[in-house]
Amino acid sequence: MLQVEPRVTQAFVAGRWLDPPRRFRVRSPASGEVLAQVADCGPEEARQAADAAVEAFAAWSRTTAHERAQVLQRWAELMLRDEDSLARLMAQEMGKPIRESRGEVRYAAGFITWSAEEAKRLGGELIPTHASHKRLLVMREPVGPAFGITPWNFPAAMVTRKAAPALAAGCTFVLKPAEQSPLTALHLARLWEEAGGPPGTLQVLPCADPVPVADVLLEDPRIRKLTFTGSTQVGRLLYERAARTLKRVSLELGGHAPFLVFDDADLEAAVREVVACKFRNAGQTCVCTNRVYVQAGIRDAFVERLAAAARALKVGDPLDETTQIGPLVDEQGLRKVRAHVEDALQKGARLVTGGSHRGLFYEPTVLVDVRPGMRILEEETFGPVAPVLTFRTEEDAVRLANDTPYGLAAYFWTRDVGRAFRVAERLQYGIVGVNDGVPSTPHAPFGGVKDSGIGREGGRWGLEEYLEVKFVSVALPA
Ligand code: NAD
Repeated sequence: MLQVEPRVTQAFVAGRWLDPPRRFRVRSPASGEVLAQVADCGPEEARQAADAAVEAFAAWSRTTAHERAQVLQRWAELMLRDEDSLARLMAQEMGKPIRESRGEVRYAAGFITWSAEEAKRLGGELIPTHASHKRLLVMREPVGPAFGITPWNFPAAMVTRKAAPALAAGCTFVLKPAEQSPLTALHLARLWEEAGGPPGTLQVLPCADPVPVADVLLEDPRIRKLTFTGSTQVGRLLYERAARTLKRVSLELGGHAPFLVFDDADLEAAVREVVACKFRNAGQTCVCTNRVYVQAGIRDAFVERLAAAARALKVGDPLDETTQIGPLVDEQGLRKVRAHVEDALQKGARLVTGGSHRGLFYEPTVLVDVRPGMRILEEETFGPVAPVLTFRTEEDAVRLANDTPYGLAAYFWTRDVGRAFRVAERLQYGIVGVNDGVPSTPHAPFGGVKDSGIGREGGRWGLEEYLEVKFVSVALPA
């Protein structure tokens, strides 16, 4: 076993560290070594967590926003204190390069500090009355105990992007982290405990099979909110399940981001943004571009620069400070990337660079002559592969960009301010980056339309997902 720092491997339920009878293995995708044997929760632990979340909600929802903010601020400070250990955990359990992992810890802590500050400003309203003896008030209250399911690709940020606004709003939060990356989530729970988070406010249920745990929490009518980040396929299933108890639902699902490069672009800058957008986390983010469209006249110049930049990326051990591309998360991820590239090549695409792998390490790859009908243009690749296509006119570019059931993030590069607004307004996406390949930040709304989901995370929009509106009408005595 790799020994780096003490790891938290027990489940965190009702403020206690539990050892269920079973454990499951978490492996390093870089070396294949077993990193830890983690508590494998089932229905029994899920029931305990639901009870504790309901019990804790009674008190937590009645604390003031200022009191909750103090605990949250402390939580964020502890995360930053442990930035290095958290980053190493992420690098080990899912292969994110260490420098990028440190960036994720800071990004993740940003959701906490922002939510803590903003919760103090969540006022109600006094509505102008229609009757002189009545006073009309609008109050905002936490929705109730919430259940969150997170993916492996941002083991810290996907947790805090949900848990921080929930806790700041006065909700309690039960988390089921991804089976590939539970160690970061458990470390975050340890820090919540250290920050003084009361028992039952934040609970973490790692498990090898998500279904039995999710079943209990989805069926429980006392759990009032489901928040999920993951694939569209699973999101759809959970949406149906949550309908039975009419939970509030937020779904952050898959994407298929286009990146349009117009012929007035600063090519060096456009390549830099495409590389940042495409290759970070080895292409394993929901907002990574999956289709690069370049205006016909600049295609060759663009492809040449993009291929040179891709070749220059350093692939290697995620714990090495100089690594830019780590391994893919698992065999299944690798199979999908390989299948997309093989399918494209068989159907006439041409490899400009990359296309091979060593273990789970896939080379940064650029493909040209990509055409409709290839899988890579229809499904999320979730790997470091950039398919480049061309377009002729602005009209064409927008049509191609919108031609997908997904609607999470879209990007384009232009120096024309008129075009910047025209295209941004016409793209059917929840997030648009104009000359910006990495737009996400904790105080802005993040989320998609169409098959990419429902609701937003980040900023005040993220907090509103955990708030209910109550109308109070007071008739004054005559
Ligand atoms: P996934 O849907 O397979 O798994 C995500 C989570 O759901 C994991 O915790 C998993 O254990 C759980 N899960 C899987 N099946 C379940 C079931 N039947 N019942 C309950 N829980 C279940 O997704 P993944 O491959 O692990 O993650 C990558 C996906 O996440 C990609 O599609 C990516 O685009 C998406 N994602 C979206 C965002 C966003 O904000 N929109 C952010 C990151 C990742």
